[in-house]
Amino acid sequence: MNRDQLRDRLTFYRDLGVKDIFRREPRESPASNGGGERPVVQNAVQDTAIPSIAPSGDTLLKIIEDLGDCRRCRLSEQRTKIVFGSGNEQARLVFVGEGPGADEDAQGLPFVGRAGQLLTQMIENTASKEGIPIRRADVYICNVVKCRPPENRTPQPDEMEICGEFLFRQLMAIRPKAICALGSTAAKALLNTKDGVTRLRGHWHKWREIPLIVTYHPSYLLRPYNQNAKREAWEDLKKVLHFVYD
Ligand code: URA
Repeated sequence: MNRDQLRDRLTFYRDLGVKDIFRREPRESPASNGGGERPVVQNAVQDTAIPSIAPSGDTLLKIIEDLGDCRRCRLSEQRTKIVFGSGNEQARLVFVGEGPGADEDAQGLPFVGRAGQLLTQMIENTASKEGIPIRRADVYICNVVKCRPPENRTPQPDEMEICGEFLFRQLMAIRPKAICALGSTAAKALLNTKDGVTRLRGHWHKWREIPLIVTYHPSYLLRPYNQNAKREAWEDLKKVLHFVYD
């Protein structure tokens, strides 16, 4: 793939009406929010080694290039499209889900099915209610694995490890002010923990010095009997949005 084709591919990932993902927002150091609420970090995980494949000066473009037509694990066998991630590559906030479902696999974009519509609503409605002028396109959204697991099963540890290197590179390249892990698979991949969402949510954690919050996966919130979890997820979202954008 030549440079122009790579750039086209990156442009494709700026889905959903982002006007200019190359614009730079004023950025503070990841651990500070300019004097607002400071996250109290619980279960902070020690910085682990930077993945061996991450070159210095890494960019999303370079990561897409290195990913190529990935065949590194069995998930590549049944995928239609690699779902790299989408949104603002200068985002101050990154959401990390588990892995693509059928709609995402077909379109090559993350969170575009029912769970994705709920995630979009959650981001945009919460931001609007809280007077924070952002849309979905202003954040960045990606997953622990980039290919759809068959029957939407949970990704296996070796798949998470192989794909995780690319996720970690994306996070390092974007350097957001905060990360929101959606569900226990994302929490496990980023915090190296066996704890579930109920235990992890409501507190700040860290991924390599970047404040991280865990909340319920939108698919879980779609189940009608999870009203309480829905309320808690709105609280989590409010907390991270204010931390990042106040
Ligand atoms: N669920 C996820 O975890 N990720 C997606 O992209 C879609 C559904």
